[in-house]
Amino acid sequence: MHDTEPIAATSGQPSAEPGVRLIRNFIDGEYQAGERWFDKHSPLDNTLIARVAEAGRAEVDAAVQAARTALSGPWRSLAVAQRVDLLYAVADGINGRFDDFLEAEVADTGKPVSLARHIGIPRGAANFKIFADVVKHVPGECFEMVTPDGTVAINYAIRRPVGVVGVICPWNLPLLLMTWKVGPALACGNAVVVKPSEETPQTAALLGEVMNAAGVPRGVYNVVQGFGPDSAGEFLTTHPGVNAITFTGETGTGAAIMKAATNGARPVSLEMGGKNAAIVFADCDFDAAIEGTVRSCFVNAGQVCLGTERVYIERPLFERFVAALKEGAERMRPGRPEDIGTGIGPLISQDHRNKVLSYYREAAELGATVVTGCGVPEMAGGLREGAWVQSTIWTGLGDDSPIAREEIFGPCSLVMPFDSEAEVIRRANANEYGLATAIWTTNLARAHRVAASIEVGIAWVNSWFLRDLRTAFGGAKQSGIGREGGVHSLEFYTELKNVCIKL
Ligand code: NAD
Repeated sequence: MHDTEPIAATSGQPSAEPGVRLIRNFIDGEYQAGERWFDKHSPLDNTLIARVAEAGRAEVDAAVQAARTALSGPWRSLAVAQRVDLLYAVADGINGRFDDFLEAEVADTGKPVSLARHIGIPRGAANFKIFADVVKHVPGECFEMVTPDGTVAINYAIRRPVGVVGVICPWNLPLLLMTWKVGPALACGNAVVVKPSEETPQTAALLGEVMNAAGVPRGVYNVVQGFGPDSAGEFLTTHPGVNAITFTGETGTGAAIMKAATNGARPVSLEMGGKNAAIVFADCDFDAAIEGTVRSCFVNAGQVCLGTERVYIERPLFERFVAALKEGAERMRPGRPEDIGTGIGPLISQDHRNKVLSYYREAAELGATVVTGCGVPEMAGGLREGAWVQSTIWTGLGDDSPIAREEIFGPCSLVMPFDSEAEVIRRANANEYGLATAIWTTNLARAHRVAASIEVGIAWVNSWFLRDLRTAFGGAKQSGIGREGGVHSLEFYTELKNVCIKL
């Protein structure tokens, strides 16, 4: 599974060391080196797994120019149906190389194979098909008006691509979140320059091969590797040849990108951080609520933007729920991605582990009751060097503590009791983020009431992470600007032009 041969995207240049891949930029349909190389280590055991070509200003400029050129080439004149066929071919190409994508995603992130197989790769392919279908079927608008001179004018709207879209991606669900933006951008006829996270360079690089094999014209899909400030991320977002920027990542980074986008007044779509609440009423289906809350707290080692880090439990259920949550957390066994019994992988990097462990220490210092975890698991052999932390549940802290307010982005949750519906709505909303919430109740009227009152972009009732890709997705408050998904993506990736004809 974790073989050491370079995947095709990285071959053609000898590895610096056996087992270490060379990952390059993908510009104008070709793999290219960059200004310098940076190292990518495995989150599992901290071994060096790849050297990645960092794009400097010159490579970013070449990628943007390639995208601009593509926009005036054959890509521009394709009929929607032809574009749709190409995107279907891309989706089929991902599925055709499923194992290569799976291997690359797992190598970069260390996440369980079962998880990447179930969510990461299939959703990556599906994102091309769903948005191909959206553009194929989206209706237009048309208005007829009587003019002052008594004749008639008709107005109709046509959609045109915005141009070159800069796509800045995070590391937690690399292929899924990148294609979530590249899919609609290409479906709408744009060209893209993607900047994957420095932690997860591989699947974006590999997608270049699929684009070429599918016959997507060169320059339509470009990848520049590197970091944020003073690297590919900053060079891309400040590049005047980029017409729009779509971003997923931390709120602070989103704010920096928004600032960069003011130069030239370019539109941004920002999907940012969260501090999501789960609200569990005493009348819930207990088993379903436990199963859903264990997943929302710990899946992908808690590195899911929509994941839960605050659990509010109606007081009569509190002790029983905490006990069951503890049991669920302790069942998530850490281990190698390919082991069937592995429930949880490592965090993405040593840096991120240091951040999460600093919250673990802070919680202890603040006097939290540790229900489970709050440390580092005993791992065997080389895994001792990996970015592992324990799944953690705390009680005993209030809404004002940093543990309840700040996004930790690890497998941890603070559990707190509540006494009334009004109280829990107020407390769940008393946070600067507003991404998602999960409400567990069998009272239908209450479910509607609470869902309507929580200040978030997505409210789940008796479920979590259930996504219909036709629906609007995005964050309220500090969690985002704009909505993507279904036809909502078209608002960002196209310019709606009105044509007014006097008859
Ligand atoms: P991050 O903000 O650190 O990095 C995201 C990307 O931005 C990376 O590619 C990084 O290199 C780049 N970047 C950093 N600084 C930049 C700059 N100044 N200019 C241009 N690019 C820059 O986020 P991360 O650590 O990769 O991801 C985790 C975060 O993402 C969490 O906060 C999580 O909540 C959020 N997230 C949100 C959603 C959502 O849909 N709302 C989804 C997934 C993750």
